[in-house]
Amino acid sequence: MALFSVKMRSSALGAHISGAERIVEEHEVGTVCAAMSRRALSHGKGQPDSITITVAAIHGDVMRIPALSITEAGSRALDEAREVVLRTLDPLTPHAERAWELLTSVRDMRGAILFDASTGERLERDHARGVRVTSMDAATATGERPEQGSGKTRITDALVLASKVAHHPAVLAEVCISDDPDYTTGYVATQSLGYLRVRNMKPAGSPIGGRLFVVDTNDTADLVHYLEHTPVLVGGAQ
Ligand code: AMP
Repeated sequence: MALFSVKMRSSALGAHISGAERIVEEHEVGTVCAAMSRRALSHGKGQPDSITITVAAIHGDVMRIPALSITEAGSRALDEAREVVLRTLDPLTPHAERAWELLTSVRDMRGAILFDASTGERLERDHARGVRVTSMDAATATGERPEQGSGKTRITDALVLASKVAHHPAVLAEVCISDDPDYTTGYVATQSLGYLRVRNMKPAGSPIGGRLFVVDTNDTADLVHYLEHTPVLVGGAQ
């Protein structure tokens, strides 16, 4: 069966507004492109003046990985959310506080910060853009999986992304704060901890937001290639 990677990104006056990634069957391409443009036009960050949708056939194998398990931290305020994130990052990097400061100072990036666990330096080439994870979807979305249509295994975009990211051995942790001003719940994820939802990651109405991957690698190019190009389906039968 032919599969296609579909990517959307939208911007206003050159600033990133939103993006989306799917892997779909050929007959779904039209519907998915239409749904993506509708979604782009109704984003909480504002009205885009440019929407780009790219469709590319996937040649070769698609990697299948399990979804991370979801848990929830009972954080009632910003300082508690910060504590949850620092407690998770502390065993992985001596620069956990710097990672938090960095993540809570960025906005409007299309991609993620690659944060070197041992040095606390940024490894991505373009600091304004970051590294954008693409070519991924929930396995149930392709219709290949037996549970397709059951409605029981709907996986959110963030869980799909976090599962793909955590699967690479160079990634120690991911922290995410949505840049939607109305959405203050973020997450911290690791392969062993799973996907930990963290409420109150930022004050309501704040435009900050971004993603940061804590990594340990001497082959950044291999990691970036996996994040940007390796097609991955998450969940379903492995
Ligand atoms: P969102 O969860 O969609 O509100 O995105 C929050 C932030 O995560 C964005 O501002 C980007 O910096 C980053 N981000 C969103 N999508 C991706 C992606 N596919 N790959 C890497 N970073 C992303």
